[in-house]
Amino acid sequence: MTAPSSDPCLFCRIIRGEIPAGRLGESADSVAIADIAPQAPHHVLLIPKRHSPHIGEFMKGPRAAEEMKDLLDLGQGIVAKKNLEEKGYRLVVNTGEEGGQTVPHLHIHLLAGREMGWPPG
Ligand code: 5GP
Ligand code: ZN
Repeated sequence: MTAPSSDPCLFCRIIRGEIPAGRLGESADSVAIADIAPQAPHHVLLIPKRHSPHIGEFMKGPRAAEEMKDLLDLGQGIVAKKNLEEKGYRLVVNTGEEGGQTVPHLHIHLLAGREMGWPPG
């Protein structure tokens, strides 16, 4: 269930198809889109259809475990399709102001195709 249509949430609007995005996959509870400003050769956003501002709120949902599995499975499908397993990839959840989150609707970044630095900036 997405937020009501009056909700200004960018990702809810993308999920509803009100804003175009490069859709890379969809499952019962999740969508995958190409990031508009890719930070790596592959930069996919894995987004739950249910609106939550961040992971802490999301995990309070009664179906959170099932929805999180659905989200990660969608990501694994993309990893397999793009053949990313061998060289590796990174999953990132920026959370809150200091965590660098800019869109307050939970999402997982899937980044791949270049060597990643550590620690992250
Ligand atoms: P955050 O900063 O919240 O971790 O990640 C938000 C991501 O959403 C950023 O990587 C940003 O480039 C991406 N983004 C912002 N607006 C849009 C948009 O309109 N379409 C798509 N596909 N990605 C977006
Ligand atoms: Zn939303």
